[in-house]
Amino acid sequence: MSFAVVNPSTEQVIRSIELASAEEADAAIAKAHEAWPAWRELAPGRRAELLRAFADEVDADLENLARLEVANSGHTIGNARGEAGNVRDVLRYYAAAPERLCGKQIPVAGGLDVTFHEPLGVVGVIVPWNFPMPVAGWGFAPALAAGNTVVLKPAENTPLTALRLAELAERAGIPSGVFTVLPGLGDVVGQRFVDNPVVRKVVFTGSTRTGKRVMAGAANSIKRVTLELGGKNSNIVFADADLDRAAAAAPYGVFDNAGQDCCARSNILVERPVYERFLERMEPVVRGFAVGDPARESTEMGPLISAAHREKVRGYVDGAPVAYTGSAPQGPGFWFPPTVLAPIAADHPAVTEEVFGPVVSVLPFDTEAEAVGLANNTEYGLSGSIWTRDLARGIRVSRGVRAGNLSVNSHSAVRYHTPFGGFGQSGIGRELGPDAAEEFTETKNVFISTEE
Ligand code: NAD
Repeated sequence: MSFAVVNPSTEQVIRSIELASAEEADAAIAKAHEAWPAWRELAPGRRAELLRAFADEVDADLENLARLEVANSGHTIGNARGEAGNVRDVLRYYAAAPERLCGKQIPVAGGLDVTFHEPLGVVGVIVPWNFPMPVAGWGFAPALAAGNTVVLKPAENTPLTALRLAELAERAGIPSGVFTVLPGLGDVVGQRFVDNPVVRKVVFTGSTRTGKRVMAGAANSIKRVTLELGGKNSNIVFADADLDRAAAAAPYGVFDNAGQDCCARSNILVERPVYERFLERMEPVVRGFAVGDPARESTEMGPLISAAHREKVRGYVDGAPVAYTGSAPQGPGFWFPPTVLAPIAADHPAVTEEVFGPVVSVLPFDTEAEAVGLANNTEYGLSGSIWTRDLARGIRVSRGVRAGNLSVNSHSAVRYHTPFGGFGQSGIGRELGPDAAEEFTETKNVFISTEE
């Protein structure tokens, strides 16, 4: 069975990709299992060297990887270069882990007690279409560093950069079977990662609906899971904030990657005295947002991923109060203009659900407690921003909002050296940061008697 990969800017088929069957997935998992002992037992310094060599190959291929992502996913060339660079940086960061996976020596009576971080075995990484490169790297780099082998399934419609990364790994000398990319359907290949008991951990990024299935399936073999799921995130702007900066930054906090970002700040909550002024100041930024050919250096926003996804996004805007919009090209391509909804009821689906498109709702609030209540009025808990010149309030509100990743006076992107993940239905576990390699290990405790 094959899958026609489409360029979302042109609607042209760019490549046909063979999809793996369930049997092929099982064979790849078996091969990864065979490759595991040698990889696990490799000297830590040698494993580190191979990961650095992989990072060097990614670096040398950066422009090619970026161009592939522009064609396959419609990401702007600037973003796509950053995403390929992120894979390189994440590999380099975790290349330091094999030599630093230190256990503990714990005081005990009558002997010596030490802990070891033992790798799990085969790890399955399931990647969504919205950030094909970074999300892949966040899974495979720490997993490989900790001595696991990896099978990775890209999303059906965005497999091209993952396939290229597998070629680069091979070129870097990563042994056969240690890192395998398997394009395939979620229900077929993804499901085998969940059901095949040889896979000892699944790292899943995608929708909350599928994440629940993955978690339920993993229970059958007590398989570890990390889930990075959806989000509905608020950008809270207090009246004492630097309003020009907040209004200039807000569109980038939601329209980046055409809003197809689980961290998109798609609700802007503005303290009532500055609500109208904020909307006015944001208007020229939204109208001036450069939407178009993602290969052009100056483009700030490309198309949505597919016609079906565009219809889903349109469903949130149809009949909703539109304050103003930016522009979008006419003709082929799954284009959708940056869209600002206001005034809008707090129970409108665009306010309560994850839109995953370039649509933002702007709502007023009167008190700090009300703002925190509005931001927490969701089952998700992934990210958010707070704009204020009052540092104490910035800290209070960041502690009050139930989400895994908050930023004060910025919409900081994910940093690979800090932990990332969600509260509530945004997921379980954390990726990235100094502890991620340990998330791919079991702690083993060994007691050695010193009695004569
Ligand atoms: P999706 O859940 O449909 O698919 C995600 C991946 O899971 C794909 O590779 C798909 O093939 C696979 N899959 C589908 N069914 C499966 C099954 N039964 N078993 C195993 N794997 C299966 O999500 P999507 O539409 O590709 O991605 C968009 C969603 O992902 C959004 O809701 C977004 O918020 C979320 N997302 C979250 C994060 C995060 O870090 N929290 C990052 C990116 C995307």
